[in-house]
Amino acid sequence: MLLLKVENLNVYYGAIHALKGISLEVNEGEIVTLIGANGAGKSTTLKTISGLLRPQSGTITYQGQNINGLPAQAIVKMGISQVPEGRRIFPNLTVRENLELGAYLRRDREGINKSMQEVFRRFPRLKERQKQMAGTLSGGEQQMLAIGRALMSRPKLMLLDEPSMGLAPILVQEIFNIIREINEQGTTILLVEQNANMALSVAHRGYVLETGRITLAGRAADLANSEAVKKAYLGG
Ligand code: ATP
Repeated sequence: MLLLKVENLNVYYGAIHALKGISLEVNEGEIVTLIGANGAGKSTTLKTISGLLRPQSGTITYQGQNINGLPAQAIVKMGISQVPEGRRIFPNLTVRENLELGAYLRRDREGINKSMQEVFRRFPRLKERQKQMAGTLSGGEQQMLAIGRALMSRPKLMLLDEPSMGLAPILVQEIFNIIREINEQGTTILLVEQNANMALSVAHRGYVLETGRITLAGRAADLANSEAVKKAYLGG
């Protein structure tokens, strides 16, 4: 079933035409990846879906409803949660406080506590460090915290912006295993990555973005085997 449909999206930063008519679809239960080089427009796409940027034209339909132009918190409330690039945790708050902020639109205390326990079960490191200032966590732990914080809003659709950035290979593997598990437990995922290899290994389908346009789309396995993708993104 179709969960998210983006049609002909145009986004500008002043005179810069960052997204030039992007269209993509995400079905319920999928991991869909958006891959592309620096500056292709990947983050811009996610920020537009989550309501942080306004498109100049185009439509974004989520669960059959047009969410274009809705405030970001209304979009979070509808079940879309973004894990921003560079983590963006609150360094001067504790791990626990960061997680609580992820649930700021929820009022069900009991449910929030349950979600917190689920996050701690998934990330035992965060449980051990719940009173530690988030800014003193390692890069990998901060990424886990950013994912945990997004989970605290109980999203149907999680938007992940370059979760592998700046992480050692072993941690990248761990983060991708976690992404797969979160998906297997029912969360749909739109994953932006420069690490095309890893992204295509975990995703069901993918889109290739080049300077604001989708140039290729297909099943992840087919993209991983395509000559064009191999040449441009997988090192030949
Ligand atoms: P990266 O992988 O490097 O994060 P990206 O694919 O996510 O790249 P975007 O961050 O979406 O790319 O940027 C797309 C284009 O829009 C780039 O040319 C970038 O310079 C431009 N851009 C992004 N943010 C702004 C801004 N706030 N003001 C002006 N131009 C911007």
